[in-house]
Amino acid sequence: MKYALITGANKSIGLETARQLLQQGYYVYLGSRSLENGQQAVAQLHAEGLTQVEPLQLDVADSASITEAREAVGQKTAVLDVLVNNAGISGGMPQPTLSTSVDLIKQVFETNVFGVISVTQAFIDLLRQAPEPRIVNVTTGLASLTLHHDPTWRYYNITGAAYHPSKAALNAYTVMLAQELRDTPFKVNAVDPGYTATDFNHHSGPGTVPDAAARVVKAALLAPDGPTGQFFSDDNAPETGISPW
Ligand code: NAP
Repeated sequence: MKYALITGANKSIGLETARQLLQQGYYVYLGSRSLENGQQAVAQLHAEGLTQVEPLQLDVADSASITEAREAVGQKTAVLDVLVNNAGISGGMPQPTLSTSVDLIKQVFETNVFGVISVTQAFIDLLRQAPEPRIVNVTTGLASLTLHHDPTWRYYNITGAAYHPSKAALNAYTVMLAQELRDTPFKVNAVDPGYTATDFNHHSGPGTVPDAAARVVKAALLAPDGPTGQFFSDDNAPETGISPW
């Protein structure tokens, strides 16, 4: 049995990632900042016949919640094979660079960057026990600094003072983490699920949740000779699947 933890898995891309990993035979700890919402998501999966899953109260912006979640998982398993850092917030749009409050920017970084770092640090010892550990940091194609210099890029005018920089920082952390773990069996990658219809964007995205989750799951299931320290984005790079940073 392989074990996976997904943050923000009570709905949308996180929940579908849980579903697809369950279909692959994984046991899933379904992270949710509201235990009740997590329980409802688990009940939904159980009704679909996917039973190797349990809810885990985990607010990635709350250090006490992370500590408690780590203790709870540690009492059940000594090994974690997959960590999907999916929980994320946009902070609301638009986010003009000269008028977005620093408080809002801090709030977004708290979840999208410091939350990921805190959860990763809390669970790294369990991941180290896995023969082929995988960490997937869910990013966005909008985090590409290179493409934001290209006026012909289709998302050139979609800017933001909080969300984009937070995910660019997440990408930077992903590179550093992958580099530090380069001589181990770890694969650490950032994955853009693509512009997807979810609550995140009031269902404006053209992509489907199953397709988005499939991109995340692909990085969670990478073979031992697979890439590490990459920024996967089918939206930004339809031919190679690897986005410029
Ligand atoms: P979503 O529908 O808004 O779901 C976000 C999930 O994250 C929810 O489960 C939410 O929990 C959870 N969450 C937020 N803050 C949290 C916290 N502090 N602790 C724990 N969980 C927290 O968004 P989504 O579209 O599925 O997005 C998932 C990821 O994909 C995000 O990282 C997002 O940046 C990224 N992404 C999305 C798109 C897109 O077009 N949808 C594109 C690129 C990247 P609650 O239910 O409690 O709020």
